[in-house]
Parts: sequence; structure tokens; C-alpha cells
Amino acid sequence: MLRENFRKYDHLLVDLDGVVWIGEKPIEDAIHALNAVKDSVRVTFVTNNSTRHRNDVVKRLRDIGINWVTVDDIVTSASALAELISSLGIRKCYVIGEAGLVQELQERSVELDEEADAVCVGMDRGFTYDKISIALRNLLKGALFMATNSDSTFPTEEGLMPGAGAMVAAIAAASGREPDVIIGKPNPLILMIAARGSSNPLVIGDRVETDILGAIRAGMDSVLVLTGVTKDLRGVGPRPKFIVESLKELLL
Ligand SMILES: [Mg+2]
Repeated sequence: MLRENFRKYDHLLVDLDGVVWIGEKPIEDAIHALNAVKDSVRVTFVTNNSTRHRNDVVKRLRDIGINWVTVDDIVTSASALAELISSLGIRKCYVIGEAGLVQELQERSVELDEEADAVCVGMDRGFTYDKISIALRNLLKGALFMATNSDSTFPTEEGLMPGAGAMVAAIAAASGREPDVIIGKPNPLILMIAARGSSNPLVIGDRVETDILGAIRAGMDSVLVLTGVTKDLRGVGPRPKFIVESLKELLL
């Protein structure tokens, strides 16, 4: 059960990397806490990671013991971007990204082509000079520049690895254009998509410049968990409403 000061929230919007797992390693306290609250509050996982389809995120969460989760409990920057692209009526995209982004777009009947109305950029471990060239060609012709997220790095057991922001920056440098939309946190839109139907959501994340700033922009309260990227708050920056060492502190 949630501790008293968290009981006014009807929906937890929980980040994954740095909160539920770090790279391949599950964070046991978080799994225990989420299993303990699942019947008293709605939980949606919201991740800037665009590489996996939501079905793969479900499988991974079930594998580590969060076995009540379904695809409707997941929002990724790829699923949110695909939803936005589809609602804007954009039919053709050139994708720089991995299976997660490709499948989310295809499921919404977006055609993937090298001549496109929008260039969609997410993290891509197969990023190449050719891909920058094709993106540039489309952007110079006026295609929209849409990005999943701008995280420069993400945490793994081996330390920080380059994130989607590194690919977005390369394309921005070549084209002289900044993205028209970066849907991932701190964009409040992804949190609003995830919070649909709830009246008082609480954002939980490990990164001040994405999770906490996004929550502030969306007008939502937030919890900073110190299991991931942010280890102290001595610098200036967006302030969370709560700071906890681990998600266990949400519990009675
Ligand atoms: Mg995180």
C-alpha cells in the first residue's frame, strides 16, 4: 500500500531505465514496490527508450516479476511519436531507428520510404553516414524533423552509452535544423498521453532534466529516485516534489 502522502495520486507514471532496471539488471526494490501497489493505484510505464516495441517491454517486465503488465500499461517515445505522426495525417516516414520505432509506425499504417514527409529519428545502433545523407535530403526538401527523444546518453552496467540525442544532433548539424518535435520527456506530451483518463498522476523518474522537467511542464507532481542517473541535487535545476533513495520508500 502507498504511504499516506502518496495516496492522493491515482496514477503512477513510472520511468524504466534507472528506476526499474539499469541496463539488463533489475532493481529488486522497485519490482517489490510496484507489485505491492498495483491493486491500489494505476501504473503506466513511460520510457524515452524507442528501441523496443511495447510488446517487448511487456515481456521484459514479466520476466523480471512484474507479471500483471499489458501493452496498454506501456508508453514509449516510439509509440507516442507514432501516435502523433498518425494523428497529424503523415503517411510516409524515413526512419532512423530500431525495431521498436519501425513497428510502432507500421502498426499505424505509416509507410516507410526513403522519400518521405517526415524524418523520424530514434536511437539507432546501426547509424551510418548514408542514413544522415538520406535524412538531410528529405529535410532540405521540407520534410518534418521528428525525434523520439534527445537523451544524450543512457545508463548500462558498463557505464553510459550514446543515446538518441547523439543521432538527432548529427542530423541537426548536417541540416542546420532543430527537430520540429522531440516527443520524449521532458516534452509534456508523452506524459499527457500516458496519463489519459487520470485526474492526479505522479511522475517517477531518475533524471531531473527529462522526468522531473517533463512533469513540471505537464503540471504534474514528481518523485526523483536516486537509483539511476541523478545521484545528488546540489546543482540548480528543476526540483521534484519528492526525492527517494528507492521506490520502497513509497510504501508503508
Ligand atoms: Mg531513466
